[in-house]
Amino acid sequence: MIRRLINKILGKGTPPAAARSRGKAHGGPIILPKSKHGVGKEKISGCALRTVTELQSAGFSAFVVGGAVRDLLLGRNPKDYDVATNATPAEVRTRFRRSRIIGRRFQIVHVMCGQETVEVSTFRANQVPGEGDDDERETDEHGRLLRDNVFGSQVDDALRRDFTINALFYDPVKEEIWDYQDGVADLKKKRVRMIGDPITRYREDPVRMLRAVRFAAKLGFEIDPHTREPINKHADLLANVPRARLFDEMLKLLMSGHAVESVRRLRHEGLHHGLLPLLDVILEQPLGEKFVMLALKSTDERVEADKPVSPAFLFATLLWHEVLAHAAQHETAGMKPIPAISEAMDEVLERQKDKLAIPRRFDATMKEIWLLQPRYLQRGGERPFRLLVHPRFRSGYDFFLLRAESGEIDPALGDWWRTFESATDSERRQMLVQDVGPKKRRRRRGGRGGDTGASEKTAVADGGGE
Ligand code: ATP
Ligand code: MG
Repeated sequence: MIRRLINKILGKGTPPAAARSRGKAHGGPIILPKSKHGVGKEKISGCALRTVTELQSAGFSAFVVGGAVRDLLLGRNPKDYDVATNATPAEVRTRFRRSRIIGRRFQIVHVMCGQETVEVSTFRANQVPGEGDDDERETDEHGRLLRDNVFGSQVDDALRRDFTINALFYDPVKEEIWDYQDGVADLKKKRVRMIGDPITRYREDPVRMLRAVRFAAKLGFEIDPHTREPINKHADLLANVPRARLFDEMLKLLMSGHAVESVRRLRHEGLHHGLLPLLDVILEQPLGEKFVMLALKSTDERVEADKPVSPAFLFATLLWHEVLAHAAQHETAGMKPIPAISEAMDEVLERQKDKLAIPRRFDATMKEIWLLQPRYLQRGGERPFRLLVHPRFRSGYDFFLLRAESGEIDPALGDWWRTFESATDSERRQMLVQDVGPKKRRRRRGGRGGDTGASEKTAVADGGGE
């Protein structure tokens, strides 16, 4: 309270005139000095610091905002940095040589320093019906915001954000946290709390339901009861969200490093069964669930260990059992294993387009991983050696190990590859297992019958044998 008073007297933290005139019942932010929050400027990325400093020295206000501030306060390493400013995108653009304006609906500026990119957005408002310029606010019949491209003040920018813990501003020059929504208190209480009326905010953007769950899982927080309670009842609002948007949010969730926990919580909140097609694939496949959950667990472990994770690999796991089922049908109808699996891959990839909206750019990698699978069954001759140097060996191998671990194939095969992979060359030679080689296949070229399938698989995946 006293600090607020001091801030007021010093003129610090007073919302800009535009915000005051908008008539939001808001007394301005609590401003915390470094002694209260402990985040020094050395903790943030050089690029974010440079961007904010440059904008401020040009006379604009500029802050690090959103997830990065939340993560810094929690002592975590932010994965990227967003900056919010009262400079327009064009004004930002002119300050940084290596920057570009992106987006049509709402323009933001990417400022690049070396490998790093900082996203700079202009303060904007989430206008409430009846207030401000209503022409700029468009919703569909469910209350979903179709446009939110209105510039606003800093306080507006805090209010339009989803959760209090995501609405904190950090000024790295003064090393101050500006808190308009008691976000710091919620961080301490480990609470995900919606800004404003939760039902209205879910109607505006149903994806916020998924975000609540994702942040709770990621941070180990609880969702505040008022924020949580409407989720179950309003879950079907998700049906109105464009597929591509749902996909993006689900991808964030699956790649968050807390996929297993997020999926558990989504289920708990009733956000499954037909609402999230990707989640249905995870939870509603009787044979694949164990495999997919193992894949999510291993993705989480990789994120934790700071190893790269590949969305294509994850999608390949999500759809694998469907591919297997289709391939089995084709084989029952008389097709040979390789044509069967090729056909199955194309069918499954085609079918998922409308439902799951996995972008086509992942297709090639998914197919490669799938097509490599039969080659791990070949443990004789030069084949395992050739596989070791295949550019996708590692992905195919990790995938194969998950199959073994899930019990879909003999776990001993997984053990063999684990040993083989880490053995010396002479040890590897001793490990080779007699199997039907390409000679047999060559002799049979054009012939029929007696084929093991394994040799066929290798022939196709090898692109023609030795
Ligand atoms: P992460 O660490 O997972 O990236 P984040 O908080 O940075 O978490 P982003 O999706 O990158 O999440 O969004 C950046 C910020 O933009 C959020 O912190 C929040 O303030 C705001 N935001 C994002 N999505 C929404 C939304 N759907 N509704 C309101 N505010 C949002
Ligand atoms: Mg972010």
